[in-house]
Amino acid sequence: MLVLFVLEAKLRGSTKQFALIDEMIRTAGFVRNSCLRYWMDNRGVGQYDLSALCAVLAKEYEWAKKLNSQARQASAERAWQSIKRFYDNCKNPTIKKKGYPRFKKSRSVEYKTTGYKLSEDRQSITFTDGFKAGSFRMMGAFDLNYYQPEQIKRVRVVRRADGYYTQFCIAHDRLEKVEPTEQVIALDVGLMHFYTDNRGNKVENPRHLRKSEKALKRLQRRVSRKVKGSNKRKKAINKLGRKHLKVSRQRKDFAVKLARCVVKSNDLVVFEKLIVRNMVKNRRLAKSISDAAWRQFFEWLEYYGQVFGKIVIAVPPQYTSTECSSCHRIVKKSLSERTHACECGCILDRDENASRNLLAKGLEYLSRGGHSRIKDTALAGSPTLASVWYAQGHLNLCSISESLLNKFGG
Ligand SMILES: [Zn+2]
Repeated sequence: MLVLFVLEAKLRGSTKQFALIDEMIRTAGFVRNSCLRYWMDNRGVGQYDLSALCAVLAKEYEWAKKLNSQARQASAERAWQSIKRFYDNCKNPTIKKKGYPRFKKSRSVEYKTTGYKLSEDRQSITFTDGFKAGSFRMMGAFDLNYYQPEQIKRVRVVRRADGYYTQFCIAHDRLEKVEPTEQVIALDVGLMHFYTDNRGNKVENPRHLRKSEKALKRLQRRVSRKVKGSNKRKKAINKLGRKHLKVSRQRKDFAVKLARCVVKSNDLVVFEKLIVRNMVKNRRLAKSISDAAWRQFFEWLEYYGQVFGKIVIAVPPQYTSTECSSCHRIVKKSLSERTHACECGCILDRDENASRNLLAKGLEYLSRGGHSRIKDTALAGSPTLASVWYAQGHLNLCSISESLLNKFGG
């Protein structure tokens, strides 16, 4: 089983070098936005037209030419991804918000297999395209030694609140043999507990998330008190950004460990698909933090499902909390009612009842369609490069902080 995953290292270099990286990032953003503009202005533009546009841009603008040609292509591909997402959403009547592609300020630049070089010891990276950013020492790149250069499919440079990072997207043949456990599990997520399984076991919400939530609120208030455009405000925004980074790293750590444990100790894992619509609607910070934590947890469940050769299914949410898991009557309850009590005599913890329903649904899916059908219904299905960046590259987490920063950065 070929698995894609992301290794990350912090870059060490001079201020001058980082200014050049900023230019690289700006140029990548320029290419992406130009592609978008071209698509908006011309009917029926496809992926190949955008790819061809890259060469035109390079001819027209001296500085666009400086960016490695494959990196230009990667930027065009990113533009196409958001266009394609929009087209796909338009075809799906259940999605109300179609997400028309928008111009974005870029925070990263992506290389494919050229435009950079790794040192012999693989602890430094040199960017070899026209920007001549030079060599950077990489902090925490130790793991890179385990992989061959041809396993590196993409390299991305990301700007964050606390510095610049490289991410390596690595393809690795990874299937760890584990003995069947003969156990199945279904997970119901909720705001009271991180999840409740079908046996009534509960995993608490990680305390650091709650604590961080308070700290984030405090930092946000601090930003909004400062005068717009002032240096103090800039500093406060940076502090807020750093806190978001810290939270996202803690969250990732929690998700990885928990997901690995759950998949390893069960042969079948069922969870409820998170509906993006509902998530966007809820602007409350507490909720958005939990959503991001679950989303990441689910993505790691699917990843480990592939690594360990286990079945991981996301089922669409329908009546899972109201239906009686024993007789299938609908038993309505308010959000504050924590117990499911049915006329049939079934009395269960509310979330335990829900996760039992999830398990039944998961088994129904399996019996109806086998594994091939499941792929379509799962959260991510087989991983594509984009979804791997998305899942493992902190992107979904940073998007929260980005939108917040945009709000405050004005
Ligand atoms: Zn019942």
